[in-house]
Amino acid sequence: SLPLAEVDSEVSAAINKEAERQELGLEMIASENYTSRAVMEAQGSILTNKYAEGYPGKRYYGGCVNVDTVESLAIDRAKKLFGINYVNVQPHSGSQANMGVYLAACKSGDTILGMDLSHGGHLTHGSPVNFSGMLFKAASYKLDPETGRINYDTIRATAKETQPKLIIAGYSAYPRTLDFAKFKEIADEVGAQLLVDMAHFAGLVATGHHPSPVPYADYVTTTTHKTLRGPRGGIIMTNSEEKAKIINSRIFPGIQGGPLEHVIAGKAVAFGEALKPEFKKYSEHVIQNAQALAEGMLSEGFKLVTGGTDNHLILVDLSDREITGKLAENSLDEAGITVNKNTVPNEKRSPFVTSGVRIGTPALTTRGMGTKEMKQISKWIAQVLNNPEDVGLKNRIHEDVKALCKQFPLY
Ligand code: PLP
Repeated sequence: SLPLAEVDSEVSAAINKEAERQELGLEMIASENYTSRAVMEAQGSILTNKYAEGYPGKRYYGGCVNVDTVESLAIDRAKKLFGINYVNVQPHSGSQANMGVYLAACKSGDTILGMDLSHGGHLTHGSPVNFSGMLFKAASYKLDPETGRINYDTIRATAKETQPKLIIAGYSAYPRTLDFAKFKEIADEVGAQLLVDMAHFAGLVATGHHPSPVPYADYVTTTTHKTLRGPRGGIIMTNSEEKAKIINSRIFPGIQGGPLEHVIAGKAVAFGEALKPEFKKYSEHVIQNAQALAEGMLSEGFKLVTGGTDNHLILVDLSDREITGKLAENSLDEAGITVNKNTVPNEKRSPFVTSGVRIGTPALTTRGMGTKEMKQISKWIAQVLNNPEDVGLKNRIHEDVKALCKQFPLY
């Protein structure tokens, strides 16, 4: 058959434009990354043609010999990468990985306890507009208003009061490491199970740059496309054979049909890459870059939630300034720097406006940028945030951004 450009010029043109946007812009959304050519090749392969309901060796379709090989490779590599006994690599996304766990650990109407969405939790941690808040009674913990950090005493008190069946540790916007032993202690005190959703920091866990939740959690979920740098998708892990069996049946036939074996192939390749020494260096640089960015923003007079970072992201607190998160996001976008607005602790503005921005380093680190570039970028960010309406300034910075990006070609 014919190539995409000949079959569908409209879709092809949009993809080409997106390639140019990715190539010539500074991608600083903390949950994004640039996956490798090898991952994309696997993901764009003929495996998309294959139905394979079931699991390796136990399928409901014929002709699964090769996808069995691929899925087994993904499972074995993930087990090795995270030092865990059972992995389900079929969840289509991080949200479905979490749904699989909730349906395994809870009955409809049970209480779950996660981090409040406006304090850095994810939609699937109990938001009323998400299945997690619709099917379960959702309780939430908030950050300490003084320190901007997780307060384990508050979590313990909330857990005692609400008696959850499942406690969720993990975040979409929090710049510090989590204490999994504390979470486990609290879960044990109230007879709850513990899920660690390490979607954001899984890559750092894989290389030992963030403590591992594996010794403490009953279940671990992650997306595969953030710091882990694989294809868009999710996985679920556990050390318990009994729990693994239930998880498998909740994913299929519980909430999914045929697995995306082409994406699972991408996951296998990405886990293989993450097992290599280069990936260890990569994780180290992600954190060094986030710290350089934090120092840069602090020296430009900006406030950061918790005053700094231990991981791959910073949260700039704009609550003492006139500029909103929304205007900051738009102004930076005009200068070729992509970030996203984010609520901050004690937020006074609506979630559509907000008083903060979340800035991450995984994608730029993949391009090979280092602390020198982070210093430069923090100066540009500061200039834009101090003069968000200055069109001339934003245009000048945009040209400088393009020049910098050309020094670090993507693919
Ligand atoms: N869990 C956390 C902590 C996340 O940050 C995200 C995505 O941002 C998800 C789960 C959901 O992943 P997906 O977008 O693949 O459904």
